[in-house]
Amino acid sequence: MNRVYNFSAGPSMLPLPVLEQCAKEMTDYNGSGMSVMEMSHRSPVYDAIIKEAEKDLRELMNIPDNYKVLFVQGGASTQFAAIPLNLMKTGKADYVVSGQFSKKAYEEAQKYGDAKCIASSKDRTFAYIPTITPDMVRPDADYVHVCYNNTIFGTKYPEVPNVGDKVLVADMSSCIISEPVDVTKFGVIYAGAQKNMAPAGVTIVIIREDLLGNARPETPTMLDYKVMADNDSMYNTPPCYAIYVAGLVYKWILGLGGLEAMKKINEEKAAILYDYLDSSELFKPGADKEFRSMMNVTFVTGDEELDKKFCKEADAAGFKNLKGHRSVGGMRASIYNAMPTEGVKALVEFMKDFENKNK
Ligand SMILES: *Cc1c(COP(=O)(O)O)cnc(C)c1O
Repeated sequence: MNRVYNFSAGPSMLPLPVLEQCAKEMTDYNGSGMSVMEMSHRSPVYDAIIKEAEKDLRELMNIPDNYKVLFVQGGASTQFAAIPLNLMKTGKADYVVSGQFSKKAYEEAQKYGDAKCIASSKDRTFAYIPTITPDMVRPDADYVHVCYNNTIFGTKYPEVPNVGDKVLVADMSSCIISEPVDVTKFGVIYAGAQKNMAPAGVTIVIIREDLLGNARPETPTMLDYKVMADNDSMYNTPPCYAIYVAGLVYKWILGLGGLEAMKKINEEKAAILYDYLDSSELFKPGADKEFRSMMNVTFVTGDEELDKKFCKEADAAGFKNLKGHRSVGGMRASIYNAMPTEGVKALVEFMKDFENKNK
């Protein structure tokens, strides 16, 4: 076996035990004589898979009973439209723009109503999270939308933003199940699965029940949360295999001790990398200290040619996908749940060596 350390921002690493179980069950799932890829989504054997996945996610994230868990398709980007279509009742919604995905969400919402950017960190290339207070939110806004972890810029909300009694909607695509969050503080949490949860194809929506049933008449049926909730995510064929893998990932984390244990591991990994970046004379971290992401670590040398050289040599040494997003350049190490601590340690050793040779 020749596994590399894959620092891709997404699709990204999956836990090795999960991949091995997929391989083991690939042609015959649990004595069914067929692959999960081949079975009817209406069959009892698949029904057990999706129910178990939901049950485990509920346990993992401590999701209260008055929240629905939906498994939908179209990626997080489709949610940029589904959110305003389902939640804009007065036609007004407030957005915090803290990076590229939140900007896209904000722009998409403008198609459906009066979306307002109430705070942005664009002035310093999204190196920080803008502070928001309840008085910044319009009294008649239906919700406030934030991107909880900014995958491209490597920033994260240090705590749940205070939006008073407004419905808080969060895109958690790149930080979901990396640490505990208080679900009750959110009206909707959504996440594309391919960063920290499963292969691409499934998107998770966690929504408070009282927010269902307000979709605008022109909402495509497939984007209506109430339709999805009433049909247990089976209005049509769900992304069956991706949901199965997500279920295995949930079990893997529960086996490690749940999200508190996962957080500890992630904190340790992030600290190894950030501590080195803080002490390095060559590499500089991209995000302000108090807003650093635990999942996506951005850094530069300050010299584009040297950045390129670093990525090339790292790739040759088995550290893959360290190039920063095309819109920002530099480097980004995505260290999601499945990245082992040894991978981060090995990367830091490689970086130290590179620093010595390129001083
Ligand atoms: C990757 C990402 C998206 C886009 O996800 P798709 O599933 O490709 O649509 C949106 N938001 C965040 C925070 C992301 O990291």
